Amino acid sequence: MSAVADLAPGGLELVRRFVNTVELPNGPDELDTLEQARGWCLSHGLAPPKDCTHVRLLRDFREALRDLLFVNNGEGDAASAWERLNPFLASTRLSLAVSPDRGLELAPEDKGPIASLLATVYESQLQGTWTRLRACRKSSCRFAYYDRTKNASRAWCSMASCGNQAKAQRRRQRERLSPG
Ligand SMILES: [Zn+2]
Repeated sequence: MSAVADLAPGGLELVRRFVNTVELPNGPDELDTLEQARGWCLSHGLAPPKDCTHVRLLRDFREALRDLLFVNNGEGDAASAWERLNPFLASTRLSLAVSPDRGLELAPEDKGPIASLLATVYESQLQGTWTRLRACRKSSCRFAYYDRTKNASRAWCSMASCGNQAKAQRRRQRERLSPG
């Protein structure tokens, strides 16, 4: 659905796709059932979730990531969005590993989806790509996209749908507020 230009570089694209496994506000959700979640993880090179509790955790993790992408778009509170990751770290095992062509890198010990995605977030912070991964500013949309604009100023997943709607809404508000 989204343009090629929206794709994130390298492994960060997997984070973007993971956040977009649900279409807000009402679905469909590709991580809805254990079977669906297992299928999604396997087809994206991640270890499948073990049970329904694990799937619920995955869905919560997805929304915690989305909060961070919303922060990357200048919305919400950064400190509380980062703190929201803490419970997920508790269930995650990451270690340092040597990659012959990239040097030291963080490695999830069991290819678990949460550990793998967290390692990618960490790596993208080091590479300076993280803050360009954003959730659309329109609160009912919050679709994840990668901002490739020169000055990193893109606020909406698509100008045609969300951007123009938001602008029209602001214009109406201004007109209501202005006297006469
Ligand atoms: Zn949008």
